[in-house]
Amino acid sequence: MMQDKFQSVSEARNNIQKKLPPLTGTRTVAIREALDQVLAQDILSPIDVPAHINSAMDGYAVRSADLNTTSTSLSLQVISTAYAGKPLDLAIPAGCCVRIMTGAVVPPDCDTVVVQENTTLQDQAGKSTITFDPSKVKPGENVRQKGEDLAQGQAALRGGKVLRPADLGLMASLGVAEVQIKRKLRVAFFSTGDELRSLGQALDEGCVYDSNRYTLYGMLRRLRFVDVIDMGVVKDSPQSLEAAMLEAANQADVIITSGGVSVGEADFTKQVMAKLGQVEFWKIAMRPGRPMAFGTINKPQGQGSAVLFGLPGNPVAVMVTFYAFVRDALHFMVGAETKPLPTIKAKLEQEARKKPGRTEYQRVRLIYKDQEWTASLTGAQGSGILRSMSESDGLMVLSHDQGTVPAGGYVDVLPFEGLL
Ligand code: AMP
Ligand code: MG
Repeated sequence: MMQDKFQSVSEARNNIQKKLPPLTGTRTVAIREALDQVLAQDILSPIDVPAHINSAMDGYAVRSADLNTTSTSLSLQVISTAYAGKPLDLAIPAGCCVRIMTGAVVPPDCDTVVVQENTTLQDQAGKSTITFDPSKVKPGENVRQKGEDLAQGQAALRGGKVLRPADLGLMASLGVAEVQIKRKLRVAFFSTGDELRSLGQALDEGCVYDSNRYTLYGMLRRLRFVDVIDMGVVKDSPQSLEAAMLEAANQADVIITSGGVSVGEADFTKQVMAKLGQVEFWKIAMRPGRPMAFGTINKPQGQGSAVLFGLPGNPVAVMVTFYAFVRDALHFMVGAETKPLPTIKAKLEQEARKKPGRTEYQRVRLIYKDQEWTASLTGAQGSGILRSMSESDGLMVLSHDQGTVPAGGYVDVLPFEGLL
């Protein structure tokens, strides 16, 4: 059975993905509101981009036929100026040209723009003339063709994209004012443990402040397509846990809990879960974060179910399991394209001890020196030590089959900056 054997991080990831229900429901918003949200439609360009043949440079729009000469000096008369947004209604005869600004429509008779810096201008008796070397000008250069970036009807953006600033700009450049995005994914979370105290409460003998709800809040808030529902601290009693689970399932698409899945506590949690849905208790070959529960909790009134991630209680394990499993799962559910998080290669300052057969995540500080990144461990790596997580710049990922890495060896680091 699944709960009796260890599964690797990648097996667990696959097992999770197989069971995630896709989120349905979309909403239409003004494009600014779509930042960091998941696009729910393909955006086909309603226009050609650019919409007109235009100049890529400040210079002179010329007829390429005029360049057809063996002379290294050509003079053309400048008969007008073309400004951006003000197309010229003018025929350009042979031997003539127009001064043109970047973005201005290139007059139909012209097809090439000679950059201003490569010309000399003479003004004589009210007549302007430019002189330049035609052998240095390539016919067609510095002209942007209509539809060159994007032809009308072509897909500018594909559904599933998490929209970035460039995408807002791109939609605006197409005249698209509103866009369909996925409705937000509702994620409820709570902490479990009789020893936990909330901020503002006295720290009784043997108790600790609940920090997991704050790290979870922070990690979830960075996913802007998530609505975060904080459900507080729940006592280690079957009644409290059951009530909290039902309330969370009622409100949310996803439930994240921390604590109560370690060997000492799992039996009690299992009883409650067996009643409420289908939850498996996994042992994952990873450090930190070995125990984890995953499954579904039935919504009250039989309207489907919510996905449950029962994360371990240790503060570092919560973060590591969130990054290892939950983050991708939330992207997947909301229909966002999922790519592995980018890692950087860094040179280890000191040896990293490691046994093959499990994935390890160790906290490192990154320093850029001698033209490369170096990684140094942030002291004790106990899974309860949040300070060393806070001091680190990223997680060094030592893969399943890897053994000890000597000082000077290269490792993969998941930098926190840009992680979410
Ligand atoms: P558990 O997984 O419930 O056995 O908890 C493992 C360890 O993490 C214990 O030392 C707990 O006190 C601690 N812990 C559990 N939940 C939290 C939390 N929300 N905030 C801080 N520490 C926690
Ligand atoms: Mg506990």
